Amino acid sequence: MKPVRPVVKLYRTTPDPEGTIAAAAKLCYAESVEGLLEQDRASAGKFVRKLFELGHHSPIEHASFTFYIEGVSRAMTHQLVRHRLASYSQRSQRYVGHGDFDYVIPPRLEGKTVEMEGKSTDAVEYFRETMEMLGERYRRLNRALGEAGESSNEDARYVLPNACETKIFVTMNARELIHFLEQRLCARSQWEIRSVAEMMLALARKACPSVFNYVGPKCIRHGGCPEGKMTCGRYKEMVEKYSVR
Ligand SMILES: Cc1cc2nc3c(=O)[nH]c(=O)nc-3n(C[C@H](O)[C@H](O)[C@H](O)COP(=O)(O)OP(=O)(O)OC[C@H]3O[C@@H](n4cnc5c(N)ncnc54)[C@H](O)[C@@H]3O)c2cc1C
Repeated sequence: MKPVRPVVKLYRTTPDPEGTIAAAAKLCYAESVEGLLEQDRASAGKFVRKLFELGHHSPIEHASFTFYIEGVSRAMTHQLVRHRLASYSQRSQRYVGHGDFDYVIPPRLEGKTVEMEGKSTDAVEYFRETMEMLGERYRRLNRALGEAGESSNEDARYVLPNACETKIFVTMNARELIHFLEQRLCARSQWEIRSVAEMMLALARKACPSVFNYVGPKCIRHGGCPEGKMTCGRYKEMVEKYSVR
């Protein structure tokens, strides 16, 4: 059992995502399909950029991105899987025993103390002890349930915390990925899913710059924050942060 940090890999994309989007979009207006399937990468990129600006977003759905994510908490993936237009495969807490689960420690606990019975304890240490205690309880309960794999794991897991590490594959088409990023890069979004979204954006920008170089939190596309009183008030900072020079 140990604390972990997120790892995000872009496992697969549609080969030549920009060419694929350009070919699909051009088909809509093509009297002749000659050369349609052989898109030049640089001009496809420019075309896709234009398409995006014009608000013609459905051809963008033809490009797909599969990420492998590990070192994240169940609290994070519970939020991730709310995005319904994506596909997921997550490591099971039934098929896989979690007697020595790894966990995510919220960085904000660093430097804090927990007061208990007149004694101060370092909050990170207290958190680790709680994880160890839950791991021990899980193992004891699993034993009480006969340590029979799937059938005992599925009940013992009820004591596992939200901090429990998990691994997940997620596939999104580019349009859904933009929507996800716009929501989860927002400063109001929770820190862990935001940090994963940052990593996904960096990878998507490398794979498909003509689309993702222009993506950031939703305020970027709105030209300001649509959240009213809930705004973080940092629109200019966000524009600066997410601009590609
Ligand atoms: C800062 C923040 C705070 C949040 N707080 C909470 C919270 O307190 N409680 C909570 O429950 N959730 C919360 N959420 C989650 C949020 O409500 C959404 O469930 C989640 O962000 C997925 O968004 P979505 O439905 O737009 O996206 P997706 O599921 O990815 O769908 C993409 C788009 O497809 C369309 N679509 C998808 N499914 C349907 C459908 N069935 N019918 C019609 N159109 C559809 C919609 O246009 C949707 O925007 C929060 C999210 C954020 C970013």
